Parts: sequence; structure tokens; C-alpha cells
Amino acid sequence: MSGSRLRDGERRALWLGAFAVLALSFVFVGSAAAQDAEHGIGFSKGCASPTAIGEPYTCSYTIRNNSDDAGDTLTVSSVVDHVFTTPTATSGNIIHDGAIVLVSAAGSATCTGGTGSGTAANPWLNSTSCTLVGNPANPGAGGVIRVTSFSFYTVRDVDFAANAGHILTDEAFLTWADTCSSGSSNCPVGPQTATSGSQTVVTQLASSTATQIHNAAHQVVTGSIAPGTNVHDFVSVSGQAGSPIPTGNVTIDWFLNGSCSGAPAATSPTFALNAAGEVDATTFNFTVSVGQRAFMAHYAGNGTYTASNGPCESVTVATMPICILTATIAGPPKQIQITVQAAAGLAAIIPTTLTNATLLIPAYAGTTNPVVVTATKVNQTAGAHVALQVTAVGGASTTCDPILPGTKAHAHSLKLVFQHLLGVLGQLRELVQL
Ligand SMILES: [Zn+2]
Repeated sequence: MSGSRLRDGERRALWLGAFAVLALSFVFVGSAAAQDAEHGIGFSKGCASPTAIGEPYTCSYTIRNNSDDAGDTLTVSSVVDHVFTTPTATSGNIIHDGAIVLVSAAGSATCTGGTGSGTAANPWLNSTSCTLVGNPANPGAGGVIRVTSFSFYTVRDVDFAANAGHILTDEAFLTWADTCSSGSSNCPVGPQTATSGSQTVVTQLASSTATQIHNAAHQVVTGSIAPGTNVHDFVSVSGQAGSPIPTGNVTIDWFLNGSCSGAPAATSPTFALNAAGEVDATTFNFTVSVGQRAFMAHYAGNGTYTASNGPCESVTVATMPICILTATIAGPPKQIQITVQAAAGLAAIIPTTLTNATLLIPAYAGTTNPVVVTATKVNQTAGAHVALQVTAVGGASTTCDPILPGTKAHAHSLKLVFQHLLGVLGQLRELVQL
């Protein structure tokens, strides 16, 4: 906030100050000249702070007839603001372009040339000038008006980078005139200028970083994966709605644990985000062995966005459960037996398909011993179809394929056995997945 006053009495004041010690009578002499009033206007402004990149630099401007010793009525015709970015941004005439409200008592100020009544609900708009009525009996209590929430400049990333404090400043110029309604002998003639400056602290926008672990086929893998799987990280950095997509670089850390604790086992080179704010970091890939593994991505930020870290994204690498076709029984009823086993212990044996067959699954919870599952065909003359999902303690899960780990020739012979036993001539593909 600052003000402007014409210093007509300044020379007298200095003179008095210099000789104030001489005699009290000089003060009386000086007092006799008190009619040499000072004329001025109050002009202040304030801007919202902080302001994020991409948001408007928003300020209010208050004009007070509180600084004219004579209580003259004053007029204002122009406010022009300059935001000191590069290059300087200059407003139009804010008396015209802004919305103006009356702050003081009804009738103490009015704006003309446009519309409105000066209330918050119906402010003066498109005004060409405003008159602030003076109060000779109480010169500090003249009319007051305010331009509310005005903006003509949107804060940019260069404003954040411009200085270490990220401070953006402005200066506004008010053009006013004294009507000399008091008849004072020393009224200023013609347009006068008052100035007021303000500032805002520019802030960057928050980014957020998300990741997915991909296998070599770019499928998202979570939970448990098999040893020997090759993984890499897919990173996606998000900005704010209505603001640019983040640009710049990410780096990725690789951990031989599931919590991203300690120093990473490896750190990638920088990867540049694409136009969508993403990168599929295929060249930073690892073939995993049993244990916990994790990626954590780091976005470095850019002129608009702050840096951000992705979550610790982990997978468990565990030996998959196995299942082997271990017996075929001609019956009737026709049956097959599948032996299921998991080194970490069995957590679940779930039939995912069961058509024209019943399953006998013995108790298995947690056991590391082999468990024999028996499938029995119901209608001996119709086709049957069985498939199992087997999950180990710790989450490693596989779709049971009793043909594995046989050779292809072996698998073919097993298929024939299955066809014979379950009569599923048309279900060959599904049987491979049993
Ligand atoms: Zn990928």
C-alpha cells in the first residue's frame, strides 16, 4: 500500500523542522499558515497470494478520498496496472474494465459512463470516471470505492523461475483530479497521478506419478509372478486439469525388496516423458528370481510442475504351484486324477470350469505335500470339461495344466487320453488348460 499527497506545505514543514528549537513563537507563526492545505488521494491495492502457474494474477484496488486536507471532492478517470513479467504486461483502464463497488456511505461516491449502482450485486461497470465526494468537516472520511477481484494477467512458469523468491510484482497508476470544491487557494490543476504496488508469490502446480509393472509383453503384472519373468516399469505423470501435461524426465529405482527400503539395487538413466506424460522404460528391465522386487519412479518436475515420486510398486516372485495328470481310470465312471503341489503350501484349489464332471478335492490348506484331485465324469456318453486355478501361500497362482511339464508329443498323447476318458472330442483346446 502506498499513497500520494501533494506537498504544497512541505517547504514550510521543513523550515519549521529546522528551526523548531528556536522559539515557540515560530510555531504560532507557522500555524497561521495552516490554511495551505495539502491535497491528495488514497490509492492502495492488494493481490491474492500465492498464485499458481496458470491462474490469474487477481487484485483489488481501493481509492479513498481520505488524504485531502481541504475535504475536496475528487474525480478518478483511470487505473492502469503493470505486471512486471517479461515483457511487462499492461492492463487497459481498470476504471472502465473492472467492477467497482461503493465502500463508504451511500451517496459518498458514484461512477458514471457505464452501468450499475455500485453495490456488490450490481457494481459499476464500463465506467468512464468516478467522483469521490469530499468531507470538509472530516477530510479523512470522504468517499471510498473499490475495484473488486480484477485480473488481466495469467501467471506463467517464467514468473516462477524469474527470481529465487518466486515473487511477481506490479505497479498501478491512478489518474485523479481535484475539483477544488473547497475553494482552497492551492488546489492542484489538471490530472494527478498516484501509484500503488503489490505482489504475489508464484507457486508451481503439483504433479503425481503413477507406475505399472509390465512383463516383456507389456502386460501389467501385480501380486505374484513366476521366476524368470522379465519386468520393466511403465510411468505416467499427471498434472492438473486445465493445465499442460507434464514434460521432462523420470528416473526409476529398482529394489531387491518389496518395500523400496534401503539403497536401490539399480537406478535407471533418465527417461523423457512422451507427449502424454508417459514413458515405458523397456531398456531398464530385469529378469526376476524368487523374492520381493519393487520399482519406484521419480519425476523431476519442470517449469510448471513440482517433482513427484511414484508409489513403491512391488511384486512377489514365487515358484508357481504345479499340477500333473497322474492317473486315468477307465471306469465307469471315467475319472482322471491330477496331483497338485506348491512349495510354499497350498492356499486354494478353485475349479474355474466344471462341465459334466464332479471334483473331489481333499483337505489341503497350507500343505506342502502332494494333493490328488479326482475328476469324475457324470454322463458317460456326453463331453466333460474341467479346469483348475491353483494358488500357493503367498499368492503365486497358476491355471492348472496337467500336460505340463511333458513334451509336446507327451502332451498330445495325454490329450488323447483325456478325450477318451472324458469324451470331449470337441473340447481339445480347453482340455489343454486342465
Ligand atoms: Zn511396457
